[in-house]
Amino acid sequence: MMRQNELVERVASYTRDYDEDLLNRAYVYAMHQHRHQTRESGAPYFSHPLEVAGIVTDLKLDQESVIAALLHDTIEDTDATKIEIESLFGPKIGHLVDGLTKLKRIDLVSKKTRQGENLRRLLLAIADDVRVLLVKLADRLHNMRTLNHVPPEKRQRISQETMDIYAPLAGRMGMQGMRDELEELAFQNLHPEAYSLVHSKLDQLQKKTRAIINEIEVSVVSNLAQADITAVVKSRNKRPYSVFRKMERNSVSFEQLSDVIGFRVIVDRAEHCYQALGVVHTRWRAVPGRFKDYISTPKQNDYRSLHTTVVGPSRQRVELQIRTHEMNDIAEQGIAAHSLYKDGVYSAPEDATLLKGDIGGADSAASMASESRAYHWLRRTVESLSDRDHPDDVLEQARLELFHDQVFCFTPKGRLIALPQGATAIDFAYAVHTDIGNSCVGCRINGRAAPVVSKLRNGDEVQIMRAEGQTPPTAWENVVTTGKARAGIRRATREARSKQYSGLGNKILTTTFKRAGHKFERDQLENVLAKLAHNTTDEAIAAVGRGELPPEDVLKAVFPDYQKDRGARGKSAAGEGWFNLSGVANIMFRIPGRRREKYAEAASKLADAIPIRGAAGDLPVKLDPDGGAVPGDRIVGILTPGEGVTVYPIQAEALQQFEDSADQWLDLRWDIDPDNPERFPSKIRVIAVNAPGTLAEISDVMATSDANIATILLSQPDPGLAQMIFGVEVWDLNHLNRVVRELRSLAVVSEVERVN
Ligand code: MN
Repeated sequence: MMRQNELVERVASYTRDYDEDLLNRAYVYAMHQHRHQTRESGAPYFSHPLEVAGIVTDLKLDQESVIAALLHDTIEDTDATKIEIESLFGPKIGHLVDGLTKLKRIDLVSKKTRQGENLRRLLLAIADDVRVLLVKLADRLHNMRTLNHVPPEKRQRISQETMDIYAPLAGRMGMQGMRDELEELAFQNLHPEAYSLVHSKLDQLQKKTRAIINEIEVSVVSNLAQADITAVVKSRNKRPYSVFRKMERNSVSFEQLSDVIGFRVIVDRAEHCYQALGVVHTRWRAVPGRFKDYISTPKQNDYRSLHTTVVGPSRQRVELQIRTHEMNDIAEQGIAAHSLYKDGVYSAPEDATLLKGDIGGADSAASMASESRAYHWLRRTVESLSDRDHPDDVLEQARLELFHDQVFCFTPKGRLIALPQGATAIDFAYAVHTDIGNSCVGCRINGRAAPVVSKLRNGDEVQIMRAEGQTPPTAWENVVTTGKARAGIRRATREARSKQYSGLGNKILTTTFKRAGHKFERDQLENVLAKLAHNTTDEAIAAVGRGELPPEDVLKAVFPDYQKDRGARGKSAAGEGWFNLSGVANIMFRIPGRRREKYAEAASKLADAIPIRGAAGDLPVKLDPDGGAVPGDRIVGILTPGEGVTVYPIQAEALQQFEDSADQWLDLRWDIDPDNPERFPSKIRVIAVNAPGTLAEISDVMATSDANIATILLSQPDPGLAQMIFGVEVWDLNHLNRVVRELRSLAVVSEVERVN
């Protein structure tokens, strides 16, 4: 245990403004008051207030704070009273100890309904004199450091409260060092397994990168020395909790996070920060968009520093924070390091004028001007908390500002949804319920229709528009910030995909059976599942849809005599029921036997084919990007296992490569709804006179005939001619033909043809 004289020495090491006798008396008084008590660990209770006082001296706080730390548990836990403490140590210390005692009685976690009121009491207690908060944080830190002696349930509750309230509060006051340690200890207790996993990975990483870190460190120091800048360069250790939070939020892997090495460069004067930045940027390539100047524009919690990221010697990213020693102290200790604090302006007068809202009055204007931003925030918040007209609004605002890396939004019924900064309406929908996320099609933010990808802001009221049977677009995966939304989207996409394959399998089997003169019914599969090597009917049908199970195998399993009437199919490319390509030029292909007749017949026969409702329809279908099938084209599908069906116009040259894989071919037909808003990509080759204005004339025609030009490929086959291949989006074959006709009518155009 720290001795009396050690405590005095600690205080004497950073201030001359202390009273040795008073410190000694407080030490003895606290020890005496707690003499019969022990901690959970069995240690004498007095060791706790003494350690808290030690932390307070680490923060270099004034003597009154040190004494308040020694006495902070006496009123609550012993027979000491506020009056007694005031008479022994003076009214200011009595006031501080009283404030700390009140804080002790506030339970910030247990009952949700009381949470708002308790947070309000907490803010009122600490803003009255910020030293109450500082000693409270020291108290909490020591309790967290010694939490392993506490029973598990209480340990959870204290850790949760630390994570939810005290760590953010320390951060808001700019006390980064305090915040970090509180978060790490709370994380370790709340999620022991995650903690030990991340911790051991960080250890391995540190061993691996030690050499490179040394190399960079030496290199930065020597480059700065050449420019006459003295600097302390330190690598920044990654903290398990911050790594864990990044992994959780951004769904990035540990490996992705670990390729960044962080350094802190501490110099003597502010102008050296900018000079050092210049040296670093001259020596190494800067990563664009990563430079931030928090010196000219400090953060709300007084944080000042330059941030940049460069590409280091082994091509890894190196993050640098460049700051002065003073900026570093403020970054680590925030409000506790603020010079003002030591001038004694921090303490509110006994009559607590700041609660009466005359902050801007003449008598306090001078102190406001030099006050730290963090403390200013606290005072302003508390000032408005006493505005009795809208206490809830103010409290909510305080909560919002306190947890500044989160956004708080509301459902129309007023339920609070907390999301990480940058979250979208989609994240919101998934946070409310997975089903709501899955069926989300639109949203209203604060009553106005807004895109679902909109980033939410604090206080937004979000109403989600839903449509049943909807599948979230896969692209959303890259937009959302929460793991819950990402996982929900993946699962829904996977399920929808498998439903699509079942639908396709069903259709393939229906046509295959029909062609053999049978009617396909699901029940038929039940007895032959073993033969098909699948466990359920659904699985077997989906396997057909995925192209993993040939439909003929199913047919043969159900009707073993099938082979007799129809002959084996699939072995010969010219097999019945399918067609074969052997042509060289477009359209110059043969459709053997019955198939040709079939295609020659009216569309009624095509009713056997699988209907395609476009690329956005209900089947796993995509259009060949080069082949450009448009509605009206005779089409076939190529079923590729795992990829679904690619649709080709029957004249597509690309089909030749599938000539020998008859199993993959599917009969398809268009079934486009007249209201379908989808356009279809196609390609048109135009040979025209190579003269100025030709391209403009051609694109004019495209525009007036309502064709979207998606791509243009220009070449010059001949000095006088220009060849242009247009990727054009059209409604259907008629539309495409009309565009071709219009182009042919142009005088500058010599040839127009569709390309497949
Ligand atoms: Mn305590």
